[in-house]
Amino acid sequence: MGPSALVARFSPAVPEAMAGRVRMEQVQAILRLTPVMMGANILIASLVSLTSIGSANALPLSVWAMIVNGYALLGLYGWFSARRRKTGKASVSARGVNRLVLQAGLLGVMWGVLPALTFRESGNANPMLVASVIAGMIGCGGFAMLTLPAAVIAYSTPMVVGSLIMLVTSHDPILQALAGLLVFCHLVVSASCLSHAHIFVERLVASDELEKQKQVVSLLLSDFEEGASDWLWEVDAHGALTYVSDRMAAAAGVDKELLIGRPMSSLCGAAEGGPSGAVAALSALFGEQKTFRDIVVSVPVAGETHWWSLAAKPVLDLDGHFIGFRGVGADITRAREDQARISRLAHYDVLTQLPNRLSFLQALGRAWTEHGQPKPEGAGGKGCAVLCLDLDHFKGVNDSLGHPIGDELLIQASARLKACVGEAGLVSRLGGDEFAVVVAPSPGHAALGELAQSIVATLSRPYDVRGHNVLIGASIGIAVAPLHADDPDGLLKNADLALYGAKGDGRGAYRFFETAMDVWAQERRALEMDLRDALAKDELKLFFQPLIGASENEITGFEALLRWQHPRRGLVAPADFVEHAEQWGLIGKIGEWVLMEACRTAATWPAHMTVAVNLSPNQFASGHLVAQVRKALKSSGLAPERLELEITEGLLLHDSARTLKQLADLKALGVKIAMDDFGTGYSSLAYLWRFPFDKIKIDRSFVAEMQDNAAIADILRTITLLGQTLNLKVTAEGVETPSQARLLADMRCDTFQGFLYGRPMPVGDIPSFLMSDLARRMRRVESDDATAEAVTGG
Ligand code: C2E
Ligand code: CA
Ligand code: CA
Repeated sequence: MGPSALVARFSPAVPEAMAGRVRMEQVQAILRLTPVMMGANILIASLVSLTSIGSANALPLSVWAMIVNGYALLGLYGWFSARRRKTGKASVSARGVNRLVLQAGLLGVMWGVLPALTFRESGNANPMLVASVIAGMIGCGGFAMLTLPAAVIAYSTPMVVGSLIMLVTSHDPILQALAGLLVFCHLVVSASCLSHAHIFVERLVASDELEKQKQVVSLLLSDFEEGASDWLWEVDAHGALTYVSDRMAAAAGVDKELLIGRPMSSLCGAAEGGPSGAVAALSALFGEQKTFRDIVVSVPVAGETHWWSLAAKPVLDLDGHFIGFRGVGADITRAREDQARISRLAHYDVLTQLPNRLSFLQALGRAWTEHGQPKPEGAGGKGCAVLCLDLDHFKGVNDSLGHPIGDELLIQASARLKACVGEAGLVSRLGGDEFAVVVAPSPGHAALGELAQSIVATLSRPYDVRGHNVLIGASIGIAVAPLHADDPDGLLKNADLALYGAKGDGRGAYRFFETAMDVWAQERRALEMDLRDALAKDELKLFFQPLIGASENEITGFEALLRWQHPRRGLVAPADFVEHAEQWGLIGKIGEWVLMEACRTAATWPAHMTVAVNLSPNQFASGHLVAQVRKALKSSGLAPERLELEITEGLLLHDSARTLKQLADLKALGVKIAMDDFGTGYSSLAYLWRFPFDKIKIDRSFVAEMQDNAAIADILRTITLLGQTLNLKVTAEGVETPSQARLLADMRCDTFQGFLYGRPMPVGDIPSFLMSDLARRMRRVESDDATAEAVTGG
């Protein structure tokens, strides 16, 4: 068996990539003991040679000893020069190992011939001595070449074989027993070498693996520290920092060296002191020695408060003893600020900075659980209260002075409201000009009434808004729990109902909730349900009221006026439901139906007669109006100039650019536009310049008053004059008496509308109305003719 085969056979399996390094370690371990080994060889060979002096073997033994010593010295020399070279090589080739095995084998062979040289002598003493020397050399070599079993075997086998030949052939049972012992010694040494070599290699492989892992981990760590926003830290068992990454030092604004040794908690701000602060929390966590995450602490950095999020795991030593924590940290200040901002946006009204509806509902929920629920007798629950409040005349200010002024007014009013309520309750803005106050615990009816009164008084004082002197008021509805409601929603709803009641009482008032208000609300709800079905159930009807030409007294057309024929309520007037239809978003559909129906009816009338249709501002808001008008004209076949659309000034107050565009589109279709209820609005004249109306309709309140009030008569005269100047037709509404008609005719009104000429009538009555009018006119023509005949004939 050659050395390489021997090596291969008696070496533990080694990963290919590591073979060179393993060989290196093996050889080095052997080289370390080379001087001892060679020294022992020289010593023992010399002793053996010395003991033989005077015997027959003296000569061959001294020659043998010289050869062994020479070889050992050569080995020592090789060792010295190898040390001096110090190549720093990290691996040894297989050939290098083979050479070593060969050298060991050669040395073994030298010792193996020793028995042959000595046993020629008679007696047992010498063979026994030699056998023990050989056993000693095997042990010595086995120890020196522990890491390389192949070398041990190559070294010891020739010695054992040489000794065995001599001992077994001696026929002396003691020596033969010694041979057995020697074989046993050889086997034990070889086996332990093999097992040690296995352990040696395994340990090497394991340490290599560990090294690789370390490298990967440190690579990952440096990657992490460079790239991530998080950082690393370590503390000892007492919470003092033992490792701080550069990023953490930078985040703390403190030198890394100054941080090491400092307790982690000493970085926290003063605000974190105290039993519930972060310092106590951190030491508790460290004390528990458990993994933690998302612990947020505040840290003062360069005069600013930063927020860190910490997570860590306990570190244990090899014996499982706790030695500290290792963890990560991140500066979450920005995220926290963003979160706070978002939360503020979600809970506060941007304009007035008051809590918003959401906060109000939360506060109400809290007040309810703490004070609102009915308490058992004697439990002393004082209840809680909600005040619903809205500003009187705010809409008017907003419309007439513009939104910026309106916003400023809201800000001022909010500030007054907050100051007035103070600690008594939580003020929120629910939206628009609506506010609410939660009062918990309730101070009782009388005190709530006083609070409401002082709020009304405060909000009703004049405001100076960018130089405008503005006056508004406030109305307040109050509901108290548990008396007025069974749950928070009910409490708010009933406070709102009380607010309606307060407004009904005249503005600038407050009212407590009463059960009757709930009845009223239920009625409203019922009305809403009915109205939603009215169109589908064909309950809406159009009535028509005639318009009369002032000069000829002829019927020039009719105004379409909506009625609701309700099975239980009877004939409902538009004043009682049109506003609701607008509020509940039903006017779009209803208005479309009115347009279709009016045009369809008018198409059956004599071709010179017009039909007037009232439009609600909401119909403009929808954006579908122009298309609806076009459709109504087309499907009825009515000539566009026979359709008159009546709008009120209120329409022009909002978003007038969009409205004016739609009005222009309508005019482009060929329909006429009339300004209804003229004189009742805000600054009527301005609108007359801005849009080319075809007609103005003087509100009937003027007509009713003109005979008792000279000033009103003057206004009417001015309006008709204005109409003539602007080339507008002027219609007077609400003409009830012949004297009114005469006066208005003198003022040169163009058309009259009123009970004097005809009340709004159902469609079915129109033919007979037209017929009787025709008959009346015919009669008049006949009598005129008769008069003329009498004059001419007479
Ligand atoms: P308006 O446009 O000013 O309609 C004229 C109202 O005055 C009608 O009331 C009519 O019945 C009433 N009236 C006419 N002549 C006299 C009179 O000599 N004396 C008195 N005291 N009253 C007279 P009505 O039909 O109750 O309509 C009320 C309001 O409802 C209308 O006022 C109009 O603004 C609105 N409206 C009516 N129909 C519609 C509609 O189809 N759509 C929209 N959006 N509003 C409508
Ligand atoms: Ca009208
Ligand atoms: Ca009118």
